Amino acid sequence: MKTLGILGGMSWESTVSYYKFINEGVRARLGGLHSCKMVINSVDFAGFAENMKNNDWNAICADLISAARRTEAAGADALIIATNTMHKAAEVVQAAIDIPLLHMADAIAVGAKSAEATQLGLLGTAFTMEQDFLSKPLNDKFGLKVITPQREDRQFVHRSIFDELCCGKIMDQTRNGYVKVINELCTQGAEAIVLGCTEIGLLVRPEDVSVPLIDTVKVHVDLALDYILD
Ligand code: GLU
Repeated sequence: MKTLGILGGMSWESTVSYYKFINEGVRARLGGLHSCKMVINSVDFAGFAENMKNNDWNAICADLISAARRTEAAGADALIIATNTMHKAAEVVQAAIDIPLLHMADAIAVGAKSAEATQLGLLGTAFTMEQDFLSKPLNDKFGLKVITPQREDRQFVHRSIFDELCCGKIMDQTRNGYVKVINELCTQGAEAIVLGCTEIGLLVRPEDVSVPLIDTVKVHVDLALDYILD
């Protein structure tokens, strides 16, 4: 087994899910007392959130590069960045380290294939929904079409991520709001919904909707498991 590096803490609520799903995956695949060899470098999210608010992506990239290098130095054979939004910096991070960065878009594409979907509704932070660092590789590399909610719905999803989900607040009213947004995306032709923020899976469950969900934590974990256990 190779050692997995996780750049986490964004937020830690979802890094907990990564830790659990990865170990459950290793147990399912290897059995017995096996668990995952990993190095988790968990950052203080407050500084990243502040830099996002100020649109200071140079500072964010510098912090991510330094965290990624420390994770590599601690013995990781591969790295995952346990957030969709920070994949905005995926290329610069990959260029700064010598181990492979297992990219979220590759994981989503596997999820889309098993859902037999070619048109995906994407939910996430405003950065993820409004910029193309995920939708472009999904389209260019895998021919997947990505659609996003209308402006007000994007604002609702973005706010809920920072004000509630990353603070550990899981609220029925917010879940109902997500279901409405998801149904609207389906009306527009989405065949599967990408929970493109690693905390959304804590709120929206498969039984809440009738469309397949691609939970980015789960598909990212599967991609990592394939790599470290190959
Ligand atoms: N965890 C979230 C994501 O997957 C949002 C937090 C962040 O901005 O990194 O995008």
